Amino acid sequence: MKKIYLDNNATTSVRAEVLETMLPFFSSEFGNPSSLHWAGRAVSSHIEKARQQVAGLINCSPAEIVFTSCGSEGNNFAIKGTVEALKEKGNHIITTAVEHPAVLTTCRALEKQGVQVTYLAVDEDGLLDLEELEQAITERTILIAVMWGNNETGVLFPIEEIGRIARRHKVRFLSDAVQAVGKVPVDVQQAGVDLLTISGHKIEAPKGVGALYVRKGNPLTPLIHGGHQERNRRGGTHNVPGIVGLGRACELAGGELDDFQKRVAVLRDRLQQGLMAAVPDVKLNGHPQYRLPGTLNISFAYIEGEGLLLHLDMQGIAASSGSACTSGSFGMSHVLEAMGVDPMLGQSSVRFSLGRDTSEADIDYVLQVLPPIVQKLRDMSPFYQNTSGAAL
Ligand SMILES: *Cc1c(COP(=O)(O)O)cnc(C)c1O
Repeated sequence: MKKIYLDNNATTSVRAEVLETMLPFFSSEFGNPSSLHWAGRAVSSHIEKARQQVAGLINCSPAEIVFTSCGSEGNNFAIKGTVEALKEKGNHIITTAVEHPAVLTTCRALEKQGVQVTYLAVDEDGLLDLEELEQAITERTILIAVMWGNNETGVLFPIEEIGRIARRHKVRFLSDAVQAVGKVPVDVQQAGVDLLTISGHKIEAPKGVGALYVRKGNPLTPLIHGGHQERNRRGGTHNVPGIVGLGRACELAGGELDDFQKRVAVLRDRLQQGLMAAVPDVKLNGHPQYRLPGTLNISFAYIEGEGLLLHLDMQGIAASSGSACTSGSFGMSHVLEAMGVDPMLGQSSVRFSLGRDTSEADIDYVLQVLPPIVQKLRDMSPFYQNTSGAAL
């Protein structure tokens, strides 16, 4: 059976060059980078090289990069570390209703401890009202947290404009850029962000490693206390192979950014147009232009997304109903709900997320396999009357 992987927003495979760069650090280069002897020194220089590679991709200084265990840790560290460090200044956070759970559940947990959180609404395209954002800022606001690109719909937020608003009001600005880094240009200087989250396994580095950009002059209270690693910002012996792999992945992604964006967007558009031409009563979720190049979120009216995914899986096609974190639980995605998508259409949504290895043949296979599955499921659906358009 063919195996077609269109769930790259959930995780990517580790690319061969990245794995190759990592391998010595499981064997001959085993030293603890904090050790001062030869074994440690040999390794610490590679950690610093990786720091430069990550910094190079987002245009910051290497000292502003803190290595973490994942994107979730980065978001927790940025938010909780700011709340603790700025508690004299205030206790109000502004974020959006469509953030990843690593931001949303962190905010909800902090609300229980007395922190005030504003969750900004989005419109039907998944975009924010920036006037509303600016009006939400008070004397007590310590953090604005808006993701760069949405993991479910791919919607891209106007980070530069939000950065200007944050600067104007002297409020720290965090952007969860886990889905954006390596896929679209991310420049922390141009964007005016103070904190930015990166995860390894979304950009062809391994699982269990990430990075947080912390702009100089924006100290965070550590989440993990321990040794002096990461300039006292995060205790714990480094995940050396993971960090070296993340550095290499960032270097490679930076060199291929233009090509990646163009190529993947062409394939995504081929999939989108092909599906819309072959299947009636479908709806695109998320703004058609302001979108990550490889993400397509689409609702197939009258059927359940989960059912469609099961049938696609049987044909070797891996896609998702939204975020990997919600698959398995019933109910509608919080992102589509915030966009005001009708609950029936929300449950009929499927997310395809393309990667560097996705080929035209993969897309054509999906275009061949999917339409008859949808028709079969619709024929069995009590909601489907073969009168197209009713649900839309
Ligand atoms: C995957 C993801 C995360 C979490 O990253 P992990 O490394 O899996 O913890 C955070 N934010 C977004 C937007 C993501 O897509």
